[in-house]
Amino acid sequence: MKETERIGSLKGIGEKTEKLFQKVGVETVGDILRYYPRAFEIFEEPVPVGNVEEGKINTVAGKVFGRIQVSGNTKMQVTTLYLKDLTGTLKVIWFRMPFLRNTLGKGGMLILRGRVIRKKDTLVMEHPEVYYPAAKYEEKLHTMQPVYPLTAGLTNNAVIKAVRQALDCVNPNTDILPEGLEEKYHFMSYEGAVLNIHFPEDKEHFAAARERFVFEEFLVFILSLRQMKGTQNRAKNGFHFSDQPKISGFLKALPYQLTDAQMKVWGEIRADMQGEHVMSRLVQGDVGSGKTVIAFLALLLAGLNGYQGALMAPTEVLARQHYENISGMLETYGLPLKAELLTGSMTPAQKRGAYERIQSGEASVIIGTHALIQEKAVYRELALVVTDEQHRFGVRQREALAGKGAMPHILVMSATPIPRTLAIILYGDLDISVIDEMPKNRLPIKNCVVDTGYREKAYAFMEKQVAQGRQCYVICPMVEESESLEAENVMDYSQTLQEEMGNGVCVGCLHGKMKQQEKDEIMDAFGRNEIQILVSTTVVEVGIDVPNATVIMIENAERFGLAQLHQLRGRVGRGKHQSYCIFMSASKSEETKERLDILNRSNDGFFIAGEDLRLRGPGDLFGIRQSGILDFKVADVFQDAKVLKNASEEASEILKEDPELAQPCHAGLKRYIDSKIQEIMLETTL
Ligand code: ADP
Ligand code: MG
Repeated sequence: MKETERIGSLKGIGEKTEKLFQKVGVETVGDILRYYPRAFEIFEEPVPVGNVEEGKINTVAGKVFGRIQVSGNTKMQVTTLYLKDLTGTLKVIWFRMPFLRNTLGKGGMLILRGRVIRKKDTLVMEHPEVYYPAAKYEEKLHTMQPVYPLTAGLTNNAVIKAVRQALDCVNPNTDILPEGLEEKYHFMSYEGAVLNIHFPEDKEHFAAARERFVFEEFLVFILSLRQMKGTQNRAKNGFHFSDQPKISGFLKALPYQLTDAQMKVWGEIRADMQGEHVMSRLVQGDVGSGKTVIAFLALLLAGLNGYQGALMAPTEVLARQHYENISGMLETYGLPLKAELLTGSMTPAQKRGAYERIQSGEASVIIGTHALIQEKAVYRELALVVTDEQHRFGVRQREALAGKGAMPHILVMSATPIPRTLAIILYGDLDISVIDEMPKNRLPIKNCVVDTGYREKAYAFMEKQVAQGRQCYVICPMVEESESLEAENVMDYSQTLQEEMGNGVCVGCLHGKMKQQEKDEIMDAFGRNEIQILVSTTVVEVGIDVPNATVIMIENAERFGLAQLHQLRGRVGRGKHQSYCIFMSASKSEETKERLDILNRSNDGFFIAGEDLRLRGPGDLFGIRQSGILDFKVADVFQDAKVLKNASEEASEILKEDPELAQPCHAGLKRYIDSKIQEIMLETTL
């Protein structure tokens, strides 16, 4: 069988499963070989029940103690059993698996493998895998089993089976790495790498296999960017922006002075907008460095010159926040422009009204989520597009926005702390500005790393802050297995916390499964201080600005990447009050302590990203997923910085020799690059 054959030609893959594979981007047998695991399960020896570690996946062996109970309603039946060995008993629960009562009720040893969490002071193993009889575990012991990214209906086992078959058709000719590079960088052979990235013999083999594909992924990405750039000369600036006295007036009237860094970046943007070509600029600035006001200035320049400007946000919550912030500023400072909001949850009538005002030009500052701004709106004269917390902006998108008019200027704002040298490679098509200075009036956030025994004290502390009029965030533990369990978890947590806090405090909760309107209502209520404590999943991460919030407590902090923790922490310390960040960690390991201690010591995103990298070192298999950072399949911009540089150099060499990638030896590579270019041009968020 060939790698180019349809995935459906593998044994055991019917039409339905083929559709599911297509949904995750796997069309051919070759595709599935490049459908990499997102993690591995490492099957360790069972530990004594008395030694389970909170917050971690544990494997335990024992016998059922007492009766197995099924409770809850028909929608959510909970099965509970107690597992006993010589060292103690452990409570175990499953959701929606009532049949376990019969299967496990027959006696004998069983082995359970799952995460142990603390619920109301008891350790509970949640929704573990069952090995019964216990001997079933033996074949898995000490192996590394791949865990693939899935979609509803597609099981991990189905992917494993397909990959196993596909591995039989690996053909050395389908290797796309140009000749000579394997020897130069001592990469693992192609066939060895394909095998070991899916079913590694051990961690070392995996790391070696991974390195080869990381290089490949970077190489394809960089070559794609350069190819795109080669074909795309910057369009001429079709607009005329004259300096506006109202902007200087606004800057004078602001209650604060722009930092030198903000002034410098604003100068660069203004020069771009008044220059010969359209702007393509990335503004990098740590959380809280004040990017919004910079975007506002650019939008003002467009609006006051009689053009329109759009600001796109990745979520509705953020879009609405920007809208309120910006229309507030327009009003407060007497600026004669009209802002317009455009989000998916607006009623058809509201949307129609907004589209009309946009088309007629009555609205000149348009704020919304990507889809609506890009696809649905017709502009009178759009001169500027700002994207907040987004990383790339495709050529196609820019063209679509321009419609029949001139190409708009593009400003991309990001809080991702990528060192400048890497940013130049990754954003090859953009100019880069950095806001490398924080507003001066800030009180540094006070941090502490504590264990779960401190929770009561943390609650008491929050209560005190609330009594002083402040607000708090609690970030709930993640439930990796499923979003609906996560939602439940957040609701449980907020209920418990509400009981703890009593009636004087309103505890709200926010999670990804909520309807948009519900999310907005909760965020609005939090913004107005009708909710004092917001219990949330990481959905609050990007850009939310409630300056009155002074405490953020992060449960299971050990499970987050440092950069992500830093983003979360950036939700506080935005106003004039002293702010606090409490990292709650269930792990007692030294390594975790050292990692979290970096956050304790520093508030500097660049420093943190660097230290995170240094500590994780080469032993880390996947890197910790840093949300919001350029999403590669296997590569990690931080961890693989060196490979990125190598790939960049090799890309230059390749293009020097074969600028069009027309030589037969580059044919395989070229095919990947072409489809990558398609992807980059089409994508809205990475
Ligand atoms: P981010 O860069 O994370 O998007 P924001 O633009 O949301 O940060 O700014 C965070 C807060 O800092 C806002 O409340 C904003 O009004 C305020 N701010 C921005 N620039 C300054 C400054 N130069 N001095 C004082 N406060 C500022
Ligand atoms: Mg922001």
